[in-house]
Amino acid sequence: MTFEEKHAAELDRLARVAVRVGLNLQQGQDLVLTGPVTALPLIRRVVAEAYEAGAGLVTPILGDEELMLARYRNAGDHSFDKAPGWLYEGMAKAFENGAARMVIVGDDPMLLAEQDAEKVSRAGKANSMAYKPALERIANFEINWSIASYPSLSWARRMFPDLPDDAAVEKLAHAIFAASRVDREDPVAAWADHNATLRARTNWLNEQRFAALHFTGPGTDLTVGLADGHAWQGGASQARNGVICNPNIPTEEVFTTPHAAKTQGHVRATKPLSHQGSLIEDIEVRFEQGRIVEARASKGEAVLRKLLETDEGARRLGEVALVPHSSPISQSGQLFYNTLYDENAACHIALGQCYSKCFVNGEKLSPDEIAERGGNASLIHVDWMIGGPETDIDGITPNGDQVPVFRQGEWAS
Ligand code: ZN
Ligand code: ZN
Repeated sequence: MTFEEKHAAELDRLARVAVRVGLNLQQGQDLVLTGPVTALPLIRRVVAEAYEAGAGLVTPILGDEELMLARYRNAGDHSFDKAPGWLYEGMAKAFENGAARMVIVGDDPMLLAEQDAEKVSRAGKANSMAYKPALERIANFEINWSIASYPSLSWARRMFPDLPDDAAVEKLAHAIFAASRVDREDPVAAWADHNATLRARTNWLNEQRFAALHFTGPGTDLTVGLADGHAWQGGASQARNGVICNPNIPTEEVFTTPHAAKTQGHVRATKPLSHQGSLIEDIEVRFEQGRIVEARASKGEAVLRKLLETDEGARRLGEVALVPHSSPISQSGQLFYNTLYDENAACHIALGQCYSKCFVNGEKLSPDEIAERGGNASLIHVDWMIGGPETDIDGITPNGDQVPVFRQGEWAS
């Protein structure tokens, strides 16, 4: 029995969740879908489900690890500053015309780890610049979009190098199906419950109007000042085209915007950070007035420093997010080497760019108005995990009172 035959029911449900919950694809809406060829068992189901949901035209664009590696192995130096700008301009045009966007991830997250770092970085930069017109429409949440994942063999091997292939894929699949809530009969109803739980948390936090959050834990005593007029987000949210979607399948976090000049103290990461094929371990940093003034790591410190030197905003925070230690991804105890999973395993902070939707009326604010409220700006947005079973968090009210938010890694109430 193949993997696909064995798990047909879960794959059917995952496709259903991706289209009905993740995208909430509308009658007549077009869809641009990207994913790896290894994920075809899921991608075929997503396309079928999309047409059943009333899709206009679904345009799939598939990639492959071997095709990607062929460039690094065989291409001349001139190749690495190129990117398909024409394709991304077309995608931007599709979004402008109302198309939704679906991404299926599944490739080995460390695929390029053994390739020439300079070529990887040049190709990455060229691609980011070319992708900008399309990414802006996603980042500004102009359309409904979503990411879901498929347990490909190469990703499973990366996570479980000591297991036989079949067992590794089974283990990753189990984690993906559980976290995506497709291990139960009615996953759409399970997502409605989950979204309601996250909404209750964001409502409570938005009523509190905390000025800051104070994190304590092993190696951590950190006060994260929150931006003026910040808003907490989590779970389902409404894109500017009016469609309520779940951009991340899975998602466990509630998150908001810190004030770029008001974080103070020191913090120790609770998990390694997988960044562009490198693993940065035991990160410890100290903030003064929102800026990282000291940074250490036991492994990958040079990569961390390079990241912090990207621009001024790279040393400041653009996101703070709360995730209880009991979340299913955290309970798996696994490092996935993939932000979609790893950031949903623990409370985290992100260096770099903030989200405009994490402000009250954020969609109407100009970049200057966001900066005035303390929102950070940068070319990067990199999440890293600072929460664990010993994390305590207090909310600090504008008049200095402390309200318990987390105790021992869990919601205090
Ligand atoms: Zn986050
Ligand atoms: Zn983030």
